Amino acid sequence: MPKFYHINGEITPIEKSVLHISDIGLLRGFGIFDYFLAREGHPLFLDDYLDRFYRSAESLDLKIPFSRSVFTQHLYDLLAANEMRDAGIRLLLTGGYSPDGYTPTDPNLAIMVYDLPANTWEFSPTGIKVITVPFQRDLPEVKTTNYAMGIRKLKEVKAANAQDLVYVDGEYLRESARSNFYLVTAAGHIVTTPEKILWGVTRKQILDLAHKNGIVVEEREVHISELATAREAFFTSTTKGAMSIRQVDEQVIGDGKPGPITGRLQVLFMERVKEYLAGKP
Ligand SMILES: *Cc1c(COP(=O)(O)O)cnc(C)c1O
Repeated sequence: MPKFYHINGEITPIEKSVLHISDIGLLRGFGIFDYFLAREGHPLFLDDYLDRFYRSAESLDLKIPFSRSVFTQHLYDLLAANEMRDAGIRLLLTGGYSPDGYTPTDPNLAIMVYDLPANTWEFSPTGIKVITVPFQRDLPEVKTTNYAMGIRKLKEVKAANAQDLVYVDGEYLRESARSNFYLVTAAGHIVTTPEKILWGVTRKQILDLAHKNGIVVEEREVHISELATAREAFFTSTTKGAMSIRQVDEQVIGDGKPGPITGRLQVLFMERVKEYLAGKP
């Protein structure tokens, strides 16, 4: 169980980890975050997550008050303070305390540590069902703190006996609230949209693994009509790895079971994690 967070550069007991109510992260939803895992004492794919966090900050013209090397040290210090080697880590950067409730000031930066989620990289023997939701995320390439649509749809997802949703922009499938989306075509190619999405760090690893293992990747927009002929569909995310989707609305995907390409990518992803950790002192 974690006991400490990092608030504006200071290791702080969780019960004292508070920000003031005038923060425009809270008042206006003006903030960014990121989330990744630490395994065996090391944040996984840290460079990629820090790249994204600094890029997201720059997109909102928020300044991260630490260099990347200081930031990295803070992460290791916080894991050590909590005596944790396996954890979920959330970075949060907000617009800061604003006298007029609108104009950004000095950002607030928090690092939070959680127990590793119980279902991390879990293989689902059935795959999941998802519903489509017409939506296109604002600033899609920025990991902002605004998840209003996804959270608003939680009850609808549950009522449909589904586990998640996939956003559809016009006739094109994009991503879920927290995962990237892929189809496997009849030809065995992976298709995934290259734009209007958050570029997942898991997505980058999975596409690289596909390339290196002779699986053809088509990065292009994915039309909703392709669900009918797809052999497999899956999500990727930091906590899921590759997660099979068996049904989208009423459309059963392929034979309705987790497919071999999704399964293979999940195994390859686990191996890549092992390789990454083996390269650490
Ligand atoms: C975080 C997130 C993802 C997945 O990214 P990972 O880096 O693989 O965890 C995909 N889409 C959205 C909208 C996200 O917020």
